[in-house]
Amino acid sequence: MTVTKQNTHSYTTTCCYCGVGCGIVVNKDKKGNITVEGDKNHPVNRGMLCSKGMNLHYAANDKTDRLLYPQVRFNKNMPLQRVGWDMALERTAAVFKTFINKYGPDSVAFYVSGQCLTEEYYVINKLIKGFIGSNNIDTNSRLCMSSAVVGYKMALGEDSVPVCYDDIELADCFFVTGANPAWCHPILWRRVEAHKAANPNVKIIVADPRKTDTCSIADVHLQINPGTDITLNHAIGRLLIENGDVDFDFIKNHTEGFEQYKQIVFSKTLSEAAKICGISEEDIQLAARHIGNAKGFITMWTMGLNQSAVGVNKNLSLINLNLITGHIGKPGSGPFSLTGQPNAMGGREVGGLANMLPAHRNLANPAHRKEVENFWGGTAIADKPGLTATEMFEALNSGRLKAIWIICTNPLVSMPDVRMVEEGLKKAKFVVVQDASNKPETLKYADVILPAATWTEKEGTMTNSERRISYLNKIVDAPGEALPDAEIICRFAQKMGYHGFDFPDFSAIYDEHARLTAGTNIDITGLNYQIIKEKKTVQWPYPQHETGRGTQRLFTDKIFYTPSRKAILHPVPDEITSEKPDADFPFILTTGRIRDQWHTMSRSGKVNKLKQHIAQAFIEINPEDARRLNIKEDDVVDIRSRRGEVRVKAKLTTGIKKGVVFLPMHWGKILGNDLNRTNNVTSSLVDPLSKEPDFKFCAVHVEKYQKP
Ligand code: SF4
Repeated sequence: MTVTKQNTHSYTTTCCYCGVGCGIVVNKDKKGNITVEGDKNHPVNRGMLCSKGMNLHYAANDKTDRLLYPQVRFNKNMPLQRVGWDMALERTAAVFKTFINKYGPDSVAFYVSGQCLTEEYYVINKLIKGFIGSNNIDTNSRLCMSSAVVGYKMALGEDSVPVCYDDIELADCFFVTGANPAWCHPILWRRVEAHKAANPNVKIIVADPRKTDTCSIADVHLQINPGTDITLNHAIGRLLIENGDVDFDFIKNHTEGFEQYKQIVFSKTLSEAAKICGISEEDIQLAARHIGNAKGFITMWTMGLNQSAVGVNKNLSLINLNLITGHIGKPGSGPFSLTGQPNAMGGREVGGLANMLPAHRNLANPAHRKEVENFWGGTAIADKPGLTATEMFEALNSGRLKAIWIICTNPLVSMPDVRMVEEGLKKAKFVVVQDASNKPETLKYADVILPAATWTEKEGTMTNSERRISYLNKIVDAPGEALPDAEIICRFAQKMGYHGFDFPDFSAIYDEHARLTAGTNIDITGLNYQIIKEKKTVQWPYPQHETGRGTQRLFTDKIFYTPSRKAILHPVPDEITSEKPDADFPFILTTGRIRDQWHTMSRSGKVNKLKQHIAQAFIEINPEDARRLNIKEDDVVDIRSRRGEVRVKAKLTTGIKKGVVFLPMHWGKILGNDLNRTNNVTSSLVDPLSKEPDFKFCAVHVEKYQKP
């Protein structure tokens, strides 16, 4: 909706950074420059914006780094040259057809992004799965949310976040684990802070090897050893059972697996668990008492649990706490995975991952495949899952994968063991890079570059962490010849000769996506652009004849999506399968975000104000470890793993445990030097079920840099 003010037009949209999904009012002046302010009428942020959101206009107005026209390299020895859209897409289609004919559909792949809009995800997924005949589509959301997806599916029967943000003000105990929402989900966390300030009896438990800003309002900070989350969650589970603080009626009537769960949590004493976790028994007891006393209990987590070689098990061990206490499907209670990216949820809804089908249908289920196949009317959907994010680059290295199309993501900074990824791109026979920015390192390896429109330059929808769908307005024209991603894909599909991609506009793509959700648990057949705009935002499911704002909470009837309709308690083992530290690599490295930067900094890195918080990459190290290694504040330090090295300045803090170091994940190559790039050292291990990488745990050697 637009409102005309003096010489400006105002539009509502949604922040394109994190999964909180704050509403933004964009004011556009006569020259087309924009400013932003928080949308006071938006139910998520009620007018507030964090530092990243409130400075979005600086990044959006700066077009100096934009890709402006398509470019093609006609063979590997030639430079890129400017071409028109038809030529770029015809060339790409010709190369794709050659590989598909010669090596089969699995010789090509799309690697996309949680920044893509739902419509974009939908058409890319339809193209590769429904027409090319491969499931080789994966997304950088694999790097952040896939363990939660599998955890929800195994425990609740489907990838379904049960809670909503309004539950925050109804809860009296929060267990925040493997997350630093004070920095990474700031506006959501401000709601928790305000709730606690108004209600001092609200208890906050934080589990994290680092003392982050989130701990500043914690009643208990469980500063656990990295990787010991499951041991901690089991110990809390045991105490809840021992103290009689579980809901036996709920367990009996609505769950399966309690006896096996009891066996596993009672297999370690409290004292054994405390020793493994590196914290006191008293602190675990206090946390369990707070949870046991709660009337409304929310578990909140993100990458600290998900980005692990046992990420799914970590998720399950946490969801178990909600299940044994019956804190799910009621106001103020539930497990709540905080989504990293703005539309990771939308990507999951359309099935835009290597092992999923639209509307949470199951790729392994022949009936589900047939349903989607019939709907799309293309080729048979392959029954075997496609390559996941890390597998794609491994397959480029081995030569199994010939062509990769990278959309709106920067794998040469964000992928684990990134030098392996770079080797893969060097060996790739054909690389297409579709991006708004001319900065990603991937462009160096591109055979085709396609300029994409970005935030405010295209319309579409996104879904935030609480299943809230919002509409994003097109507010300004894209520079040069840049096009919306969905349009690029539809034009390409038509060059390939596929039908079903001649959508008259983006709302028609959304309508098709909505129709395909009919009869599923995420039914949004009652939605279209007009309704989303009228309602401003809605939460799925939103079936036909729905008249309100959608579904705030799931499982209020205590009926779960499993075959038995009961939630499943999984008795997961608490072993740590990450790379073990040893004499050569004695430190555990954990990685994460800083407050004012976003991912690989392609947008936030353009804003001077945001650099004022922290301007350079750094390593956090405990002062006792630093003293032993003769490292002082701001000394340059070498960090080495079995895969590579990083060289950054030291930041000494007692907020990190001895034996553990932390690197932020944002920085890539600077002037050709890749020693700021944290992922030179991270591990290529992944969770066996979710295939999410183990970013939070690898063995490293740390020493003061000595000039040669
Ligand atoms: Fe944007 Fe997230 Fe900040 Fe909200 S909390 S303004 S969605 S970055």
